[in-house]
Amino acid sequence: MPDRIYNFSPGPATLPYEVLVQAAKDIVNFNNKGIGLIEMSHRSKEFIQVVDDCEALLRELLAIPQNYKVLFLQGGASTQFAMVPMNLLGSGKTACYLNTGTWANKAIKEAKLFGTVDVAYTSELTNFDRVPGPADYTISAEAEYLYFVSNNTIFGTQYQNMPETEKIVVCDMSSDILSRAIDVSRFGLIFAGAQKNMGPAGCTVVIIREDLLDRCPDTIPTMFRYKTHADKGSMFNTPPCFAIYTIGLVLKWLKKIGGLAAIEKTNRDKAELLYQAIDKSDFYRGHARKDSRSLMNVTFNLPTPELETKFVREATAVSLDGLKGHRSVGGCRASIYNAFPYEGVEKLVGFMEEFEKKNG
Ligand SMILES: *Cc1c(COP(=O)(O)O)cnc(C)c1O
Repeated sequence: MPDRIYNFSPGPATLPYEVLVQAAKDIVNFNNKGIGLIEMSHRSKEFIQVVDDCEALLRELLAIPQNYKVLFLQGGASTQFAMVPMNLLGSGKTACYLNTGTWANKAIKEAKLFGTVDVAYTSELTNFDRVPGPADYTISAEAEYLYFVSNNTIFGTQYQNMPETEKIVVCDMSSDILSRAIDVSRFGLIFAGAQKNMGPAGCTVVIIREDLLDRCPDTIPTMFRYKTHADKGSMFNTPPCFAIYTIGLVLKWLKKIGGLAAIEKTNRDKAELLYQAIDKSDFYRGHARKDSRSLMNVTFNLPTPELETKFVREATAVSLDGLKGHRSVGGCRASIYNAFPYEGVEKLVGFMEEFEKKNG
């Protein structure tokens, strides 16, 4: 392996090195067929096999029940903010949203274009430092579905226990899908942009319960209907070929290292190491409330913005890259997704101790 920096980028994010090597080979010559992966017809036998393998692995790893469809779509997770209400809401109807930060907020804005939105919870007053527990909100009786964001990438919060209700549950899992085991049968629809925890940008995975495919009003354009893509196995039009293929490689890697049980343990170990470093110091201050802390994005502040700038600059100089926090929170953020190695967190913790000694 050449010298790789430790990449704490929130997304697109670090990928397993072996995945990058394999992808680089296949872009030029796929399976020694004399044709590059990204110049092959999406209707070729070879590429259909790529999609089928990717879907089968995703179904296996997440234990997706038979009555769910898996779709590989384009337009990013942000397109789902509109597609969800387009397909599941309808004018005059109400949906319940939990506002835990930027991504939830953007989804609320889009849903309002298609129906009534009941924002049953918001942590805006405390700058989105927490996610709600079951006692913190009420889902109104007329709500068609409950919408929430399982991991809040920007603020570094995550549900330890996912909200439960008899209603249809819709979840934006863009930044923690495949990081831990989930019970898919509790959800009506899960979506996730690939570029945080699954692969490169360009593909959004949608997992949708089959009975929801028929709820879409007739007025919705073809490309924005889940049913269009479900009926054609994500091949209604040209799918994001390279992204799907690379997701497949990441899933193979994930299976090889032990699947969700193994990766969850590693994710917990990595996050614990970093949170311990934050908790034992008065110099570093975690943004998220302890019961809402994310295993994927660790957000923290230093005593002053000047020190934060210096911290990020000096960390970058020793190959700890991408630690600058999002502009809406400031401070620092270490994104430690599935493919981020434990040693990188150890190195960061060592750097943090040194930095505090010199500047504290
Ligand atoms: C990154 C992110 C998005 C936006 O994804 P795009 O693919 O850029 O549209 C949405 N939700 C969450 C939770 C994210 O982390």
